[in-house]
Amino acid sequence: MSDGSVKSGLFLVVSAPSGTGKTTVCRKFLKQTPGVRFSVSYTTRSPRRGEVDGRDYHFIPEEDFRCRIAEGEFAEWAENYGNLYGTSAKTMREFLEKGEDLLLDVDTRGARALKKNFPGGIYVFILPPDLDALRARLSRRGSEARETMERRFSRAIEEIREAFGYDYVVCNDRVDEAVDCIRSIYIAERCRTARWTGKIEQLIPE
Ligand code: ADP
Ligand code: 5GP
Repeated sequence: MSDGSVKSGLFLVVSAPSGTGKTTVCRKFLKQTPGVRFSVSYTTRSPRRGEVDGRDYHFIPEEDFRCRIAEGEFAEWAENYGNLYGTSAKTMREFLEKGEDLLLDVDTRGARALKKNFPGGIYVFILPPDLDALRARLSRRGSEARETMERRFSRAIEEIREAFGYDYVVCNDRVDEAVDCIRSIYIAERCRTARWTGKIEQLIPE
């Protein structure tokens, strides 16, 4: 029997300038929150050290990615630093219809496109505590040419302006605190009255 609560999943869209620590924070959040699944994006970039195909990204050749664009497979896609990144609309729909909650890691353009195509998301922007910390974290991540790193750093400033368009902002000074903030947002959003109207009505005697 239905408990009267809303059964469709909710989705959190998380963006941050590269190097902010979004991957670190999101991984920890997902570990602590078994009810939320990660939406695995498609990308044409090569895996970094420790990244696993199918878990972190679906790593595919550019030709394959372009075919998927032509077939309308992506809810949104964007080019970042010469590589393509996209979210599968079909996978997203399937999970949400099954009532699974999703976490999406997309850039600010992706977030804007999702807002248009998929109503109802919760948009969270992660900020670095300051620009020196951002630069240090970017270089610690390694495996990239200095020039690419500098490009990511310059782009970070532009991306931070986009934070105004998000529902929530989380500052990643300490990882655990940032994870707690995202968990609090998620838990509060699950408790929204709109998700519980069926239950409320069920409990009111005729
Ligand atoms: P992003 O996914 O935003 O590009 P990563 O999660 O890959 O960033 O983190 C970049 C680097 O910063 C990694 O070396 C990571 O361990 C480190 N890092 C992440 N969060 C913090 C934090 N709060 N304090 C210090 N270092 C951090
Ligand atoms: P990275 O190469 O550091 O993993 O990711 C680079 C940027 O691409 C990050 O800002 C990340 O959020 C973004 N990104 C990852 N997956 C997607 C996606 O499916 N769509 C879009 N638009 N951006 C993505």
